[in-house]
Amino acid sequence: MLSEIFGKSYLGTEDAFAVMDRAEELKLQGRHIINLGIGQPDFTPAEHIIEAAKKAINDGPHGYTTPNGILALREAVACTIQENHNIEINPDNIIIVPGGKPTIFYTIMMFAKPGAEIIYPDPGFPIYKSLINFFGGTGIPLKSHEDLNFSFRSEEVEKLLTPATRLIIINNPANPTGAVIPSQELEKLADALYRYPNVAILSDEIYDRILFEKEKYLSFLNFKDLHNRLIVLNGWSKTYAMTGWRLGYGVWPPSLVEHVTRLVINSHSCVSGAIQQAGIAALLGPQDKVNDMLRTLNSRRKLLLAGLNTLPGFSCVNATGAFYAFPNITGTGQTSKILQKKLLEEAGIATISGGSFGQNGEGHLRISYTNSSENIQLAMSKIKQILK
Ligand code: PLP
Repeated sequence: MLSEIFGKSYLGTEDAFAVMDRAEELKLQGRHIINLGIGQPDFTPAEHIIEAAKKAINDGPHGYTTPNGILALREAVACTIQENHNIEINPDNIIIVPGGKPTIFYTIMMFAKPGAEIIYPDPGFPIYKSLINFFGGTGIPLKSHEDLNFSFRSEEVEKLLTPATRLIIINNPANPTGAVIPSQELEKLADALYRYPNVAILSDEIYDRILFEKEKYLSFLNFKDLHNRLIVLNGWSKTYAMTGWRLGYGVWPPSLVEHVTRLVINSHSCVSGAIQQAGIAALLGPQDKVNDMLRTLNSRRKLLLAGLNTLPGFSCVNATGAFYAFPNITGTGQTSKILQKKLLEEAGIATISGGSFGQNGEGHLRISYTNSSENIQLAMSKIKQILK
């Protein structure tokens, strides 16, 4: 059997794609679907980004670029980091990749050796655990607390660190909870990590611009003394509504740059030159469209949080980042998977079961507010009907 060549696969998946496909299938059957499932902005990239890509496609160059990404783009990234976080980063430590995911893939591939423990958020983006299992590491779930708006207690994190810990993954702002870790908590965690010099950190900051209380956010890049073992992931997918363009970057410790470059050369060679030009336009061009998107998302967020708290059996804590709410649905007496299915098949509302994000996500649903206020309101009344 061909499939046996791959062996018994421990590779997981992302239910968000399965729900998206099912929602499309139902639409084709003529059903009206409100998609609150997939994590992508329902906006288009700004015109100047699209124009930059078109120009590059027309004018070229059409060949490979340097594997790590063209220097002008890496300089634009360094400039953006300086502007947003007041930290100077050498463009040589930035590696441009197709989307946010490759940085997760390469990092976990490097660290998940048999016997190596990797701490990952649970509930969290499901790809972390999938890849830890696949590459043979031992995943150690880090629970976030609903009563802390889904942040964690740094003392609890410290208790998970052992001599076998090789990597800790932090995602801030967080998918699926919309949590933003308070800066004091992150500072306490960084203090603890100074005492564990063999532990590397992957900080997934792909939602770092999607913040509704900006002043509370701190990037891991702010801890300069950790830079020699810190990998920071970011990209264009969420901030610039460019999920399908596949553009992201990692900030890597100098000692790993050579290794990541080899991984890039052995896998995708480089990102399309035209998309990289669009990435420069996005970072250095006007940010009005990003700011408009944030304003719109914020009013939908308030509408959604208020609406969720009126649904029987639902309760939802404040979510101040990314574009997700993570209501507790235990009061409905249904599992998250069953409720997800029922809402999609019977009411035409796509959401993602909390259990898809790890064992600690059970009893919740992930609701993405990347849909219009009218649709969010309509979804709330349809869900209310179903719960009756
Ligand atoms: N990290 C987190 C926390 C995400 O939520 C996502 C996408 O949903 C990614 C990484 C991957 O981003 P991309 O679609 O750019 O690969």
